[in-house]
Amino acid sequence: MNNHERILKLRNDQTLEREELRTLLQTITAEDEEFLYSNARQVREKYYGKDVYLRGIIEFSNYCRNDCYYCGIRKSNANAERYHLTKEEVIACADQGYDLQFRTFVLQSGEDMSYSDEDIADIVREIRRRHPDTAVTLSIGERSRESYQMWFDAGAERYLLRQETSDPEHYRKLHPAELTIEHRKHCLDMLKEIGYQVGCGIMVDSPYQTLENILDDLYYMKDFGADMIGIGPFIPHKDTRFKDEPAGTLEHTLHLLGVIRLMLPEVLLPATTALGTIDPRGREKGILAGANVVMPNLSPTSVRSKYLLYDGKICTGDEAAECRSCMEKRISTTGYNVKVSKGDAFRIQKNALKSL
Ligand code: SAH
Repeated sequence: MNNHERILKLRNDQTLEREELRTLLQTITAEDEEFLYSNARQVREKYYGKDVYLRGIIEFSNYCRNDCYYCGIRKSNANAERYHLTKEEVIACADQGYDLQFRTFVLQSGEDMSYSDEDIADIVREIRRRHPDTAVTLSIGERSRESYQMWFDAGAERYLLRQETSDPEHYRKLHPAELTIEHRKHCLDMLKEIGYQVGCGIMVDSPYQTLENILDDLYYMKDFGADMIGIGPFIPHKDTRFKDEPAGTLEHTLHLLGVIRLMLPEVLLPATTALGTIDPRGREKGILAGANVVMPNLSPTSVRSKYLLYDGKICTGDEAAECRSCMEKRISTTGYNVKVSKGDAFRIQKNALKSL
């Protein structure tokens, strides 16, 4: 098989034998890349047309009880200037986002236990009450089944929890011993059982990551049946042990976006802020490689520059409205268009149509 054949087989079967997928990722040339991305675009257009979905991300707290070795807001980084928003501030961000035509809000934070389960539920419920035609996505880490259930019942329909790496040994190199891949996966399973649309994902080129790890992750995400997959390059943060590690590459991230689109044709796939950080047109290139979601920042300007998972993060000085219009312009250069919509996974959209 040559790489074009591998790409076509991947598109056709939505999977590929491990040896073939490994060879594709190892030997892909510039010319193969174009072939991969044009196939990925055809597949995304079959389900999502030319639409790019917007998610407004509200980074509501950078307090965290964990010490993930790669992350700038890990607990023991004494240099991180900590903040958390009040309930009212989070809701005000969502109101502002609604006026800017966002119909999905992603509430992300470190694992900040100063918010009780009820506090989070209150925020979700209030946003859904004020804006019934929106979706709320939570991205707040590992919690109990009861907490996840309470927030789902309050109206959160989606949850993002990257597995980071599905290999136990690699996981241990990135996290302290009290954090395990078994528990991470258990959380992902619970979220799915409760009924969330669930997102997982990895950092591309994270320290110690091997091609075998990436293959494991691709098959894991496929088997799991992810509704969303968040991938972006690893980028070092100056206050971590990985400060001198190289950042992930644009090429590797784009290859994986294209491959993921072919393996999980209906998946919601963001072109992430990290991708926009390593290349000035990273997000546009991500859209052209098969991504169909972008996540402009809605956090108040006063705290933007404090939610720093990695160095060099873009847009930390901008107002929400600037990010919104900048994104619209950027997307329009790709031939795709920002769509004002909740932007559910295709399987949910299909069911909604059936029930009309
Ligand atoms: N506390 C929540 C939200 C995490 S932050 C949780 O645990 O899910 C969101 C994502 O940022 C993480 O899942 C991780 O993949 C990514 N991230 C953290 N540090 C990073 C770095 N240095 N470079 C790139 N991405 C990073």
